[in-house]
Amino acid sequence: MNLRIMDKGELKKFVQNLLAHYRVEGVVKNNGAYLYDTIDSPEQLCMDFDCTRYPPKKYFLPPRETLFHFSTSPELEVSPVFESPPQVIFGIHPYDLKAIAILDKVFSKDPPDPHYLKRREASFLIGVDPKRISPHSFWADMGAASVNEGFDLMFTDLEDSYAVEIGSASGETLISTYARTQPATGDEKSKRVTLRTNLYSKSLINGLDFPSYEIPKLLEHSKESPIWRENANKCLSCGACNFVCPTCYCFDVQDEMDLDLKQGTRYRKWDGCLLKDFAKVGSGENFRESRTARYRHRFYRKGLYQLDTLQDFACVGCGRCASACLADIADPVRVFKKLKQEYREGGK
Ligand code: SF4
Ligand code: SF4
Repeated sequence: MNLRIMDKGELKKFVQNLLAHYRVEGVVKNNGAYLYDTIDSPEQLCMDFDCTRYPPKKYFLPPRETLFHFSTSPELEVSPVFESPPQVIFGIHPYDLKAIAILDKVFSKDPPDPHYLKRREASFLIGVDPKRISPHSFWADMGAASVNEGFDLMFTDLEDSYAVEIGSASGETLISTYARTQPATGDEKSKRVTLRTNLYSKSLINGLDFPSYEIPKLLEHSKESPIWRENANKCLSCGACNFVCPTCYCFDVQDEMDLDLKQGTRYRKWDGCLLKDFAKVGSGENFRESRTARYRHRFYRKGLYQLDTLQDFACVGCGRCASACLADIADPVRVFKKLKQEYREGGK
């Protein structure tokens, strides 16, 4: 592992140098919320936050994105649109890096998605280990407390300095060109390990009370659990739990014709399985008409259905769904614990 040390005072200069060459996106504090936004000065960049309201997936899968323009006259012509400005995304927690790795897997599968992939290729990812934990986070349970890959640089706050792990050749270039660092000593390496271990333990406090590998089995046995209907009765079908989720990637594709009916635009926009019309098809049939079916589907998708595709859960334990849900029913920890309780009471 290539671990460097950056003095605290050097961070501003590093960011300033990046700003001179790239668009820099980072975490900013706005009205009490942590958000990813474009920064234009190092002072705006926040390195100590518990969890951002929205994940960084918008940089690779924007909420609305033009795929191509087309004209139908005199003959059909299609002009693809690719927008992939070089960008540095600064301050991504390990669970969000893991979520980006999940999206990479999904959008690289046959057929690969060039719109997503071009944005990814043009992006430098700079991670940062959290110092604080959101009350709804349970990322240690989901194997997302720390990551060993999927970043160009990874910062850990060691109090008077930052440890910076170099994760790629691009990261090496960024740090050697734009920052002054020195190799980490043995003490600094040990301090980083201790900080990460403490954080891992703290993240378990609000988490599950059983190992996460039991989740698929629990779900297999819980299709008829009363919890789905009880919670779904309070669901507003607002889709907030989908939109804030770093691993939700469903989208809808639509065409917009100009008034002359000779040209138009095809675009895609985020969609969510909690929205009423998500599973509605052309004939008018809706395969998940009831709120219960939609609500239950999200948990099965996170904990069971995608295991074959991802070889992992489709949940990294960020807790954003729990924070965003006005009806207070989206928290995976509460739902999975309740299922576990029902399972135990059933004598299993
Ligand atoms: S399901 Fe909830 S906790 Fe899991 S990754 Fe999505 S938003 Fe985060
Ligand atoms: S955020 Fe809550 S209320 Fe809204 S769709 Fe999700 S579960 Fe239902």
